[in-house]
Amino acid sequence: MTALNAKVLIVEDEEKIAVLLQDYLQHAGMDCVCLANGMEVVPWLNANQTDLIILDLMLPGRDGLVICQEIRSFSSVPIIILTARVDMVDRICGLNSGADDYICKPFAPEEVVARAKAVLRRVEPIAVVPSPESGVVLDPDRIMAYVNGHSVALTMVEFNLLQLLITSQGRILSRSQIMEQLYDDRRTVNDRTIDCHIKKLRKKLDDADPTANFVHSVYGVGYRFDPTL
Ligand code: CA
Repeated sequence: MTALNAKVLIVEDEEKIAVLLQDYLQHAGMDCVCLANGMEVVPWLNANQTDLIILDLMLPGRDGLVICQEIRSFSSVPIIILTARVDMVDRICGLNSGADDYICKPFAPEEVVARAKAVLRRVEPIAVVPSPESGVVLDPDRIMAYVNGHSVALTMVEFNLLQLLITSQGRILSRSQIMEQLYDDRRTVNDRTIDCHIKKLRKKLDDADPTANFVHSVYGVGYRFDPTL
């Protein structure tokens, strides 16, 4: 997902702020819809698709944090929270609200645009890069990999993980970098989850071709895809 043509839902009851945000985000190529009442958000999401939500906390009708938590029960759409209260920041983080980012008021609109772009980039699907020279070819339609001609059925997470490693070939990826790329909702994962997926992926690749050795652990740092080692 790039910022261009991304759909953004702005939930903000202060009209001046809503209009300012809309102006800046639309100038950056995003399509915006504004809602001013907290009660409207979930019904709107049930009827419409959006790529990002910018959500004020203090809203008429319903509290922003409650809305955020409810959205997380049915959607992983990225959410950036706006708050006028710095003392709320700890609560936002501590409550596991499911927000992807937060911005304190008063803010520069340019900052909101930059954060919105960053969040949208994070959920961008990784481009398909088959890597025949490494002996691995990915088939996104079937969620399969071919290792030196041997087929390997993968889960979606394993497929995305392998794709990420291949596209970063030779570069060491830390667990948190892998997490950021693979999940837009990081509440549900931790380092051990990543290790577990890597272990399963390695076993599948190894079963397909025991002579191939692609995914290397770098102690204390992370993982690296390198078929030449
Ligand atoms: Ca407000």
